[in-house]
Amino acid sequence: MGGGKVSNIDIATNGSIIPNDSLLDIIKSCNTRIRISDYNVTPDRTKKLINILHEHEIIYSVYEFAGGCGRWYNCGGVDLTNYALTDNETVRQRYDSCAFRRCLTLERGQLARCSRASDASRIQGFNESESDYLKLSDFSDNKELRKALLKYYMFPTFMEACKYCNGTSSDDMIEAAVQL
Ligand code: SF4
Repeated sequence: MGGGKVSNIDIATNGSIIPNDSLLDIIKSCNTRIRISDYNVTPDRTKKLINILHEHEIIYSVYEFAGGCGRWYNCGGVDLTNYALTDNETVRQRYDSCAFRRCLTLERGQLARCSRASDASRIQGFNESESDYLKLSDFSDNKELRKALLKYYMFPTFMEACKYCNGTSSDDMIEAAVQL
């Protein structure tokens, strides 16, 4: 995989699991980067993981949610129904400036452009648009699936969920990891 068409793979972890040696070898051979979301729940393990990644020369980054460096956005709650009335241009701008616009998420066999959108219609009670998602079971042919995946990724447009969301362009931040 390392020399193929996949340029790199990112794995997100909360840093609580230390991969064994054979897994570390695979990670390294596949040009994989590790992104540690540090919630300060298992600081010793996270430190150990960082040391091991360093020793194995595996590229990693640390996002310090609990250390004050992480940024959490207030994308809004279930009460954002009025956004459904905003014009498409406003929603498009919100989507285009959103940090999560390419945070592809696969849930219930559907690929969405962001994790919030995956659940928004069920939680907020609006009707989702079919074009917002890629339903993987619609493709029995791998070539067709590949084409659809490329198109979905290369030509992103805002989703119905973006009408019910603050996005990430406002200064409305919330304190990271306060539930700890
Ligand atoms: S639903 Fe919200 S978080 Fe997701 S891409 Fe749209 S604006 Fe961004």
